[in-house]
Amino acid sequence: MRDCGVLQVEPTDFCNLTCPMCHPQQGFRTTLHGGLRKGFMDVGLFRRIVDGIARSDVRFDHLIFQWLGDPSLHPGLEEMLAYAIDRAADRFGYFRIDTNAVILTPGRVDRIVEAYARRPGTPVLLVFSIDAASPETYVRVKGKDAFHAVLDHVRYFLERRGRLDLPHVSLNCEFQFVLQEGNHHEARRFVEFWDETCARGRNGIGWNEVMIKRLSVGTGGPAQDAADRLYEETVRRLDLRPYDKPHVHVKLWEQSFWRKDAGDAAGGRAS
Ligand code: SF4
Repeated sequence: MRDCGVLQVEPTDFCNLTCPMCHPQQGFRTTLHGGLRKGFMDVGLFRRIVDGIARSDVRFDHLIFQWLGDPSLHPGLEEMLAYAIDRAADRFGYFRIDTNAVILTPGRVDRIVEAYARRPGTPVLLVFSIDAASPETYVRVKGKDAFHAVLDHVRYFLERRGRLDLPHVSLNCEFQFVLQEGNHHEARRFVEFWDETCARGRNGIGWNEVMIKRLSVGTGGPAQDAADRLYEETVRRLDLRPYDKPHVHVKLWEQSFWRKDAGDAAGGRAS
């Protein structure tokens, strides 16, 4: 079996948000990826790719559904996940979907949970790109008034997952917070909110991770240095520390991998 790293599939390069940090989604562009027209992946093509993988002697660390857009905009996302799980679960360590969850309505969450439950030994990770702990901050860093819709959808996911009657659940999630000028003051509140939410009822089954992430600036240089300084200053000022509890795991990005001195960037904080 050949180890082929990560397989990245982009169901669509459209997004329904315009986060200021996201260079590809600023202004409406008809093209991305060096001039290709934006669009939606054909589900038949996806099935053929999965069929080919199932017939081959390849194995991937994981399959991630996302690149420059938000995969939830593809109406066939749940079908694609279910097909990959049904046909080629043994070829992937896990499946991952990164989404802003703005339109991840309960019916769609149900279909994702049902797809997972058919092969519950294969982990599925949902990464929720949230970046805010209040509606005001959400508008500032995500460009749209959708904070409450996102909370409703993520809470529904936790509640629906909690109803799974399985001895072990590996339907996992990450609550992601990319620290930047518009939201740094809420980083601690974000950690506390998801810690408290996951502590309730059966919300904490599976693996739940709060990720306080560095902002990656496409242009690099002084803007990247400023983003790194803000991250490190905020971590110190708010005394943010990684920790593990049975219902939640809090992670910091200790290193800025794009820097030559990666490893020293966070002042040597223990993780
Ligand atoms: S939700 Fe993700 S893809 Fe969409 S604009 Fe924000 S960062 Fe970019």
